[in-house]
Amino acid sequence: MPIYEYICDDCQASFEKIVFNKQQEISCPKCSSKKATIQLSVFSSAIAGGSAKPSGGSSGGSCCGGGCGCH
Ligand SMILES: [Zn+2]
Repeated sequence: MPIYEYICDDCQASFEKIVFNKQQEISCPKCSSKKATIQLSVFSSAIAGGSAKPSGGSSGGSCCGGGCGCH
């Protein structure tokens, strides 16, 4: 069962609550306010590799790696 983290809209207290269904009424343990904002769990988001990889030709460091025509 999921545990959600809430931030109270009134006193900004953060608290966790086991939520059985989304309609469940939550109340702040500090001020018993019914207005709390759910915080999404911090996912370890995979870093999307968007950078263009410079895929150059396999240019060998040595001269005779090919391409230079020294043979
Ligand atoms: Zn509160």
